[in-house]
Amino acid sequence: MDDDVLIGDEEPGADADGVAAVAAANPRSILGDHGRAALRQLLGDDLRLDEPMRRHTTVKIGGPADGFAMPSTVERLVALVRWCAAGGVPITVVGGGSNLLVRDAGVRGVVLNTGRLRRIEVVDGTAIEVEAGVSTGKVLSLALKHGLGGIEFLGGVPGSVGGGLIMNAGTYLGEFKDVTAAVESVRLADGATVRRDNAECGFRYRDSDLPPTEVVVGARLELRPRPRAEIEVEVRSLRQRRAEREPKKVASNGSTFKNPPGDFAGRLIEAAGCKGWQVGDALCSPVHANWLVNVGAATCTDLLTLIERVRARVADVHGVMLQLEVKIIGDQAEPG
Ligand SMILES: Cc1cc2nc3c(=O)[nH]c(=O)nc-3n(C[C@H](O)[C@H](O)[C@H](O)COP(=O)(O)OP(=O)(O)OC[C@H]3O[C@@H](n4cnc5c(N)ncnc54)[C@H](O)[C@@H]3O)c2cc1C
Repeated sequence: MDDDVLIGDEEPGADADGVAAVAAANPRSILGDHGRAALRQLLGDDLRLDEPMRRHTTVKIGGPADGFAMPSTVERLVALVRWCAAGGVPITVVGGGSNLLVRDAGVRGVVLNTGRLRRIEVVDGTAIEVEAGVSTGKVLSLALKHGLGGIEFLGGVPGSVGGGLIMNAGTYLGEFKDVTAAVESVRLADGATVRRDNAECGFRYRDSDLPPTEVVVGARLELRPRPRAEIEVEVRSLRQRRAEREPKKVASNGSTFKNPPGDFAGRLIEAAGCKGWQVGDALCSPVHANWLVNVGAATCTDLLTLIERVRARVADVHGVMLQLEVKIIGDQAEPG
């Protein structure tokens, strides 16, 4: 591995057409030709360069990532983390992209997607050991297959285990906090492994203390035996309830704001008269006011503008400053 200059250097004699094409696709990339070639050598097919992030978010918004890495094993992930640390290349971690708003100028450095870490197994009868990239739906179906309850709350919650742990995702039936025995992460500074038990994760409503300086690679979930029929009934009723309340077939992050203590963000937004507000193709859904959705080709700027208008109106009308549930990542520069 050649660590000396990984950012911003253009190798002498680089193919002029190649450089022009990159400049057109992603003019802000901080990966020079040398860094791009080294990343390609390190990751092979696990890498995409200048990858539009709108392809990796459920709200279908987001400019290009300089490098989009999907390591297929923890060993490859650690090698990438060490390479980036040695060269000063920033890493932004993403999972299923179902709670993400990526700025229009894209993401500088490497976006590390854990979606190819997909090992999952039942151990010791009632526990599931699972890598970060496994979808929440897959965890639920394996638990169902083995007659293991406790994870029914995941019915209809998209995304990956890694993102679910960071967000302490859940529903009125429960949340990750209730089933997580341990979380394993890799430190972005040096690739070292860190293991935390439940109490050390600091799980709370749609949040945790799992630090942004690490990437979650796996977890142990402790479940309990439960008849399959009971699990199925509970999950079906959760899905049914969701289907009645949530907008269908529209690009979104689900709920945009957290519920404030003792109330519902959707109720406050609706009562403040924001339902149906639109900025470009960003719309405050007429079906569920806390879903700020993309009805076409909304930009991140459109959605952020709508978010701020809704937030300001709710503060005016109710005196409540709503907090975002969605996570914003990316370069604050104007899109190039
Ligand atoms: C239609 C819809 C319905 C939804 N309903 C619910 C619901 O009922 N309940 C609920 O809680 N949420 C819900 N959500 C939000 C979303 O599904 C959850 O927040 C989910 O847990 C996010 O997981 P993800 O893998 O998509 O994470 P991402 O959106 O990719 O990332 C979320 C955050 O986690 C970080 N992250 C992701 N993976 C890792 C990792 N491996 N290591 C370190 N950091 C990581 C990211 O940096 C980011 O800060 C809904 C979303 C949609 C689109």
